[in-house]
Amino acid sequence: MNLVFPPHSVATLPIAGSEQRFPVRRIFCVGRNYAEHAREMGAIDQAEGREPPFFFSKPGDAVVSGEGEIGVAYPPLTANLHHEVELVVALGAGGANVTVDAANALIFGYAVGLDLTRRDMQAKAKEKAHPWDMSKGFDQSAVAGAICPVAVSGHPAGGRIWLKVNGQARQEGDLSAMLWKVAEIIANLSTLVRLEAGDLIYTGTPAGVGPLVRGDGLEGGVDGVGTLHARIV
Ligand code: MN
Repeated sequence: MNLVFPPHSVATLPIAGSEQRFPVRRIFCVGRNYAEHAREMGAIDQAEGREPPFFFSKPGDAVVSGEGEIGVAYPPLTANLHHEVELVVALGAGGANVTVDAANALIFGYAVGLDLTRRDMQAKAKEKAHPWDMSKGFDQSAVAGAICPVAVSGHPAGGRIWLKVNGQARQEGDLSAMLWKVAEIIANLSTLVRLEAGDLIYTGTPAGVGPLVRGDGLEGGVDGVGTLHARIV
């Protein structure tokens, strides 16, 4: 093919216990998937059952990973960069209109991730009913640890999800508190877009989100999946 310049290389994630890497295609994120976090964000609590899930996305190359401590650049044009620790689902196969029962078969593995957010910019966007893209999808906004293959992790339905900043507990929750479960998220999202191998899904954050500054060291984990270490530089 006669391209005017070489195509960009695809972002990849390490796979725990393997020399192989996971090529990233797209990054989808679920908003307000833990009631306690929805409450802390001032969103109305669902007294009469769940609201349908809603999604936003980040560019595939917004992902940042690495072996050991992951360096993350503090982004420009914010004075309130927030951490959101999340369970990340990595798809090894795709499909459209996937049923809840068939959804787990698409999953290659799970990782611990951070959905970094320019909270001040997001608040302005909400006020004006503007899109969230620049508050959510900036460079290095999707931090991800190594992927734990399903053969090792199984499909965790419960377990602690937590984040410490400089050794202090910041976020703490349990996967069982997710309003929309992983298989339901995949089924719902696959009605909106055809999912493909390489897609990542950030499944929402528990309560305790808060600001980060340059120099902060982050340690996060999900029981049975792994841990993530990052530093804001
Ligand atoms: Mn999030």
